[in-house]
Amino acid sequence: MYEYYLEDWEDYGPTAMEEVRKYIDKTSKSREIHEEVYDVIPYGVNSNQRFYNPYPIYLSKAEGSRVWDVDGNEYIDFNMGFGSLIVGHSHPHLVESLKEQIEKGILYCFPHELLNELIEIITEQFDIDMFRFSNSGSEAIMFAIRLARAFTGRDKVIKVEGSYHGTYDYMLVSTWPSWGRMGPRKWPISVVESMGIPDLVEDYTIVVPYNDVEAVKRVLEEEGDEVAAFIIEPVMMNCGIIHPRENYLRKIRRLTREYGVVLIFDEIKTVMRAHPGTAAQLFNIKPDLITMAKAIGGGTPISIIGGDEDIMTLVGPGEIPTHPSVMHAGTYNANPYSIRALYVTLTEILTKDAYPRLIKLNQMLRKGYEEVFKEYGINAYVETFGVSGTIIFSNRKVHDFRGYLKTRMDLWYPYFIAMLNRGIIPMAIGPEEIWTISVQHSEEDINTYIEKLHDVAKVIVDTDKFIEENW
Ligand code: PMP
Repeated sequence: MYEYYLEDWEDYGPTAMEEVRKYIDKTSKSREIHEEVYDVIPYGVNSNQRFYNPYPIYLSKAEGSRVWDVDGNEYIDFNMGFGSLIVGHSHPHLVESLKEQIEKGILYCFPHELLNELIEIITEQFDIDMFRFSNSGSEAIMFAIRLARAFTGRDKVIKVEGSYHGTYDYMLVSTWPSWGRMGPRKWPISVVESMGIPDLVEDYTIVVPYNDVEAVKRVLEEEGDEVAAFIIEPVMMNCGIIHPRENYLRKIRRLTREYGVVLIFDEIKTVMRAHPGTAAQLFNIKPDLITMAKAIGGGTPISIIGGDEDIMTLVGPGEIPTHPSVMHAGTYNANPYSIRALYVTLTEILTKDAYPRLIKLNQMLRKGYEEVFKEYGINAYVETFGVSGTIIFSNRKVHDFRGYLKTRMDLWYPYFIAMLNRGIIPMAIGPEEIWTISVQHSEEDINTYIEKLHDVAKVIVDTDKFIEENW
């Protein structure tokens, strides 16, 4: 099957083609596995985002800042579980604690003894009144939207164009609409992004551009009394990284309050990203609900939905007849394994003291990228947030999804494969993704990354030139 994908690479020119051939030579066992599983497991992966052209490497081991593939190739990993592993791979504290937990059981389906200690940590660290645990970001989002609907008695939800909030039907709208389908900037069309989702979802999910207060105002003036929630990432992190314009979030807070709309901050990626807390705290804005996942669990599946007491008290089985009831359940919710990992991550690893070093390493990497871009004349810039960063192939600063779509994402693919060939997983999979520095990365890791980048710059330049001359 990979031969089919190889044809794509011809379009990128001989340098890129040479890189992909090198990749194929280095990863023959991965290719074999891929070809075997492809027909049974669609695309040979268990999450659409894990597939890339021509096929992904299949991993056998991870430790510290490294992973190894089935061919024995070693990589310094800056994907770090799509940003989940700020703790790095198999942190010794986690290994010790989780081994002990496995011996004591990995699934109780009764409340865990540690909950008692966790309530204070979580409510204080993330500044929320009440919370519940789920397993993934998508689940947390689904539940937050249900709560907002229950609280307001309204059904519609506003989301930002180009934002990804997980695989929940109502949120798989305009996550990546194409030109021609997305409608005018002033009134974006809601575009369902997967087959199998009823069209009616488009009537309930309203889309606005990021960083545009007037767009939100227009929607609220027109149909505010039908809107339950506005869901937003305070820093947009699935279109590269896009920072909010000054006072944007504050104005959104004011507007949502005025119209009685529940403001949900999706902090699945932003939490623990720049300090041991939320982006809401950094911007000093209090949303009504917050969803958190990824870094909080040290690599285990766990998420938190938390916020105002008025909303969170709606949750419950409805045992008391006068008590309202919002459904929230899950066999694996707050399982002892994930709870233990979260506890160790928050109390022992991602402490306040850990961040200055991580941010310094990230700035080192940023500087390395900027020097390479300058030296080789590559039209790109770096955007960072805390321990993560991304490159945007453009010389124009991006403020929203449509701006992002105008950047040169095509150059990302040869860059990614060429970095893999040199033993670096430079970031998570996809041009719109981020890299993550973990507590287990060293200065030497960053220096190696930058050194390889110098090499790869030539691949980017050659590919760009080829495209310029031939497309
Ligand atoms: N929201 C955001 C902002 C995310 O980045 C993601 C995952 N990348 C999700 C929600 C979904 O989380 P999960 O993959 O754990 O379901």
